[in-house]
Amino acid sequence: MVALDGPSGTGKTTVARKLAERLSAGYLDTGAMYRVITLAVLRAGVDVTDADAVTAVARDAVFTIGTTPVRPSVTLAGEDVAAEIRGPEVNHAVSPVSAVPGVRELLVARQRRIIGEVLAEVGGVVVEGRDIGTVVAPDSPLKIFLTASAEIRAARRSAQDTAAGRESTHADALASVDRRDRLDSSRSASPLRAAEDAVHLDTSELDIDQVLVALSELASR
Ligand code: C5P
Repeated sequence: MVALDGPSGTGKTTVARKLAERLSAGYLDTGAMYRVITLAVLRAGVDVTDADAVTAVARDAVFTIGTTPVRPSVTLAGEDVAAEIRGPEVNHAVSPVSAVPGVRELLVARQRRIIGEVLAEVGGVVVEGRDIGTVVAPDSPLKIFLTASAEIRAARRSAQDTAAGRESTHADALASVDRRDRLDSSRSASPLRAAEDAVHLDTSELDIDQVLVALSELASR
């Protein structure tokens, strides 16, 4: 198992999927799970600061998350929401929803279950998130913490938005990435931080293939 943590815009998702493919392993995007719960909260019209109501929505939400790296699916109440969970409304609300301890408890339990199932089925899994090495799978044999400068992360996020047909300026992306990382790092429930035994990799000056080479090399040790 590979635990891949770090802030947004470090190339985590692209790299995690490609690494999983290369290793013939499964893939779990835990951020997508927090995003799908956030979408359920928004659809229910619940105030994101009402922890009890948010936890109740998370408990009742019927969602699925695919674990194949090539095209991981995400559904909510049977509907494909893979694109919608990457939209601006979810981007804005996901950090407050993820800070609710009841939501984390439910999702961490489900993540551990999925990891166990994928490991039993295909023998390996690459899991990406913010607390994989620290909370979800602290026994993971390989923990990686990806970083990149805020400028680079914003540029990557803006390019992703544009590719997905969403309007995005560099300034907007920088403000959004910055805000989310501040909230994710300062919350009291499982804040974003590297595990003590994580390998740090700064991807600012690296392209995806270079990151992949570095990670494949670490995974083969
Ligand atoms: O990775 P991604 O940017 O899709 O994650 C969206 C949000 O979900 C993060 O900003 C963070 O608030 C939350 N998250 C989390 N713990 C994880 C994965 C994501 O709190 N393991």
